[in-house]
Amino acid sequence: MNVKVVKFGGSSLADAKQITKAANIINSDGKRRFVVPSAPGKRFSDDVKVTDMLYKCNNLAMDNKSIENVFSAIIDRYNGIISDLELDMSLSDEFETIKKNILSKAGSEYAASRGEYLNGMIMANLLGYEFVDAADVIVFNEDGSFNNEKTMPKLRTRLKNVEKAVIPGFYGADVNGNVRTFSRGGSDVTGSIIASAVKAEVYENWTDVSGFLVADPRIVNKPNAIGVITYKELRELAYMGASVLHEDAIFPVRAAGIPINIRNTNKPDDPGTMIVSEVPDDEYNKYTITGIAGKKGFAAINIEKAMMNSEMGFCRKVLAVLEDNNISIEHMPSGIDTLSLIFPYSEIEGKEDEVIAQIRRAVGPDHIELESGIAMLAVVGRGMRRTRGTAARIFASMAHARINVKMIDQGSSELNVIIGIGEGDFDEAIRRIYDMFINSVES
Ligand code: ASP
Repeated sequence: MNVKVVKFGGSSLADAKQITKAANIINSDGKRRFVVPSAPGKRFSDDVKVTDMLYKCNNLAMDNKSIENVFSAIIDRYNGIISDLELDMSLSDEFETIKKNILSKAGSEYAASRGEYLNGMIMANLLGYEFVDAADVIVFNEDGSFNNEKTMPKLRTRLKNVEKAVIPGFYGADVNGNVRTFSRGGSDVTGSIIASAVKAEVYENWTDVSGFLVADPRIVNKPNAIGVITYKELRELAYMGASVLHEDAIFPVRAAGIPINIRNTNKPDDPGTMIVSEVPDDEYNKYTITGIAGKKGFAAINIEKAMMNSEMGFCRKVLAVLEDNNISIEHMPSGIDTLSLIFPYSEIEGKEDEVIAQIRRAVGPDHIELESGIAMLAVVGRGMRRTRGTAARIFASMAHARINVKMIDQGSSELNVIIGIGEGDFDEAIRRIYDMFINSVES
């Protein structure tokens, strides 16, 4: 298919200078026919995103307070962009309508969506592309969830004879015509939906980093970029805290077999990260691992009881207590006479003693304790399936650093190894694993 769908994030469209970079990128490749913009984001670190200003206007209007100051600042942002780009257009009527609607309490989703709507109009004018209002093509259910079945035919019919279009991200409308939005960062989702509707050859997601890095650059000095990552690997890493992309942006393109390319608007020559369904098995992969990510704030309940292994229903009884207390566990490593349950500490906070007492009553353990301050690290890589000794290397690197490994769990897909360590060892553990798997191969 000769189409690329390109989505630009807020920092890529924060002012005229950034928008010009985006326009140059779009114009440099005739396949970049469908453009999905975010609202203008931050121009510098303590700047305010237009979306946040719009939410603020809505809150003020709901409290019957004046929106004058905040709304004027929004008008200034857009007018500044229009005049810096020397565009022959005026959004005055749009500003009037939006202001009126916010004041008559059209609601937070309507208010927030206007950031993308207005930016879309500017982009369409600048590029000479058709403007397609997302409210006409992206359909939500009344409960605010996205309706794929209704959206796809609408989008396809609308875009069928359109050569080039700008479709604002982040919002659509429900069956009653009310504007609805995705959760924050949702323009990523719009881009993915459009890419799937037009069967794009790639969904390019332009942002302010050159893709995913093997590890957090605040912990590892200048980590390598990840060239290719599979959707499955990304889910594992994203779950453990690595974030560049909205979680829901993966599903529409993944189902359609379309790769996502994360690119950097400020460094358009960087290849970025390609997110794909499958990587051919024989493709050269220099490292065993693709990425390392982790989260702090976990706790473990460690239970000991002699002959636990032959006691029928032991696990079920323990799990029933957790279920009754709404605690969702993430890992359950076990030995013959021991069982540990690992979950975010926040799940048990405030009811620690009660939960322990209930487990005592349910299974009468010889010993039970609650341990907090645990961090979990996910070492993720499709290469693990074909390599021997990955766990041994992780253990060795932890042992050299005198880091105590509290638990280790290899996912059944052989795509990841999760280790539990003390929170104080978090940074050092990541650095050691990076050294073991990346630096030692590099040198
Ligand atoms: N502008 C919206 C936000 O700030 C959506 C997006 O940028 O993707 O969350």
